[in-house]
Amino acid sequence: MFEGLSEKLSGIFDTLTRRGALSESDVNAAMREVRRALLEADVALDVVRDFTEKVRAQAVGANVVKSVTPGQMVVKIVNDVLIETLGSDASPIDLSAAPPVAIMMVGLQGAGKTTTTAKIARRLTDRMKRKVLMASLDVKRPAAQEQLAVLGRQVGVDTLPIIAGQTPVQIAQRAEQAARLQGYDVVLLDTAGRTHIDEPLMQEMAEIKRATNPHEILLVADALTGQDAVHLARNFNESVGITGIVLTRTDGDGRGGAALSMRAVTGKPIKLIGTGEKVEDLDDFNPQRIANRILG
Ligand code: GDP
Repeated sequence: MFEGLSEKLSGIFDTLTRRGALSESDVNAAMREVRRALLEADVALDVVRDFTEKVRAQAVGANVVKSVTPGQMVVKIVNDVLIETLGSDASPIDLSAAPPVAIMMVGLQGAGKTTTTAKIARRLTDRMKRKVLMASLDVKRPAAQEQLAVLGRQVGVDTLPIIAGQTPVQIAQRAEQAARLQGYDVVLLDTAGRTHIDEPLMQEMAEIKRATNPHEILLVADALTGQDAVHLARNFNESVGITGIVLTRTDGDGRGGAALSMRAVTGKPIKLIGTGEKVEDLDDFNPQRIANRILG
């Protein structure tokens, strides 16, 4: 992720730091190049505007051009604003509720929802020693429930037994009841996706939310879809309400625009990133580490 952006920024900053003195127009010219690099990385326009304005204001406030090392100061300011845009602190999955803690996974078909559900289940089981139950609420695709069961066996996490003919809400309620009775700490609800957002999808999500009152609602979005993923996050957040985002396929995303825009556009944190197809390919989204990666 961010290969192109990182390369461009390091070129801009190399020129800036190599020069002893900087004029205000040097700084402005560099900021124009930063702006272009962000737009080429597919970062949302509003986010780019905000970003460059914040950097400019801080550079003026710190009187950068009069400092001994103006180039380094500009880089430091960009670094700080970048971390702020990405959300400052890492946001782990929040399990601070009475068990069983319900986590609802939402998103479009093919975004990686089912795979991510299994990845999260594995992480909660192995790293955090929680007893986890997964349930697929996808009654539209017959293979979906079986796919989750296969992944469950692979990661050693239980899945709710499949009963044909139940509605998503009935499955969700059965999952919560089973989790309560059998002493599970967490119940992961993998909802059905669609190829695009429509009213029935949002209604189904709202019904499941009402029936289960989940502690976390995580949107799974494909990083490769760039600005579409950002619009999707905004839409899901406005219609259903989400608590966080998991960005998948960051392994194939050289630009990183969605990762850079999502927090600023939705106000909700990216909690985790998918970095490959395997069940262990899941990482925390750590703003400081990401900023380091971008600025090299
Ligand atoms: P769903 O329809 O949203 O449940 O999507 P799936 O979980 O079935 O995933 C669709 C495809 O994306 C599968 O082939 C997954 O292996 C793949 N996939 C999911 N997450 C990632 C990821 O982070 N990186 C890569 N490269 N592939 C992923």
